[in-house]
Amino acid sequence: MTLLLNGFELAQRCRAELAERIKTLSRAPKLAVILIGDNPASAIYVRNKENAATEVGITSEAYRFESIYQKDLLSLIEKLNADDGVDGILVQLPLPEKLNEKEILQAIDPAKDVDGFHPLNLGKLMIGEPAPVACTPKGCLKLIHLAKPDLTGLHAVVIGRSVIVGKPMAQLLLRENCTVTTAHSKTKNLPELCRSADIVVVAIGKPKTVKADWLKDGAIVIDVGINRLENGKLCGDVDFDVCFDKCAAITPVPKGVGPMTIAMLLENTVEAAEKKLKN
Ligand code: NAD
Repeated sequence: MTLLLNGFELAQRCRAELAERIKTLSRAPKLAVILIGDNPASAIYVRNKENAATEVGITSEAYRFESIYQKDLLSLIEKLNADDGVDGILVQLPLPEKLNEKEILQAIDPAKDVDGFHPLNLGKLMIGEPAPVACTPKGCLKLIHLAKPDLTGLHAVVIGRSVIVGKPMAQLLLRENCTVTTAHSKTKNLPELCRSADIVVVAIGKPKTVKADWLKDGAIVIDVGINRLENGKLCGDVDFDVCFDKCAAITPVPKGVGPMTIAMLLENTVEAAEKKLKN
């Protein structure tokens, strides 16, 4: 029987645990969220993150700008870096084109980088040192662990090589002693490659791409993709209905990876606060 990896429920459990951890701190953790531009999806993501933070007991402070100069945004980040009361800083992506995203992300104090996108933190993940880990792959790993706690020796295929999902996901699975293959848009014989995988993580942004005949019987399938169909419904990168019976475990879209991404943002913020308040 296939296990439905319900990210909504797991995220609720994570959030309840975080609320308890926050009660033991000398003050509430604080998250600063910066939103620039008028991207409606980004505005919704930021609102959801703020609401989730407030619900567990994190103080969230939003900085919203229709537009901003690079130097002014860098000054704001500098100010937040220096503020001892701020534990986490999140800059909602994508940024408007005229801003230099790399420079902005690198300006964030790595200790407050709750998105885990700072090159220092990505590097630490690679060499196996503790550091904030990107929220989406961190959440995916927790979902995989629901299906199988010990991943040693399994073959994992990660489809997608973005810096925010695919690459850190591959590193996390390596850390779990998986044999990892990273696939991307130029990979040859992708369905055949997938058929050799015990774990498939798909993060490509193309609706219903992975079909049942891409999967080995009993594979664990994590669908990161969020795509809106013409009928307005959301779907993932995996053709869920046709793949379901083939899998040992699979995430739905929605209510799979998405809620876990937010829960891991809260976890990273609490971890940053715990670390600061311990020192
Ligand atoms: P991206 O566009 O940065 O990267 C996509 C990757 O997929 C690239 O590496 C590309 O080579 C690969 N790719 C594209 N088409 C392919 C194909 N046909 N076959 C194999 N590889 C292919 O995207 P991203 O930021 O990594 O996001 C991927 C998807 O995940 C999007 O749908 C995004 O909305 C979603 N996402 C969801 C969450 C969440 O919380 N659920 C978080 C981040 C991203």
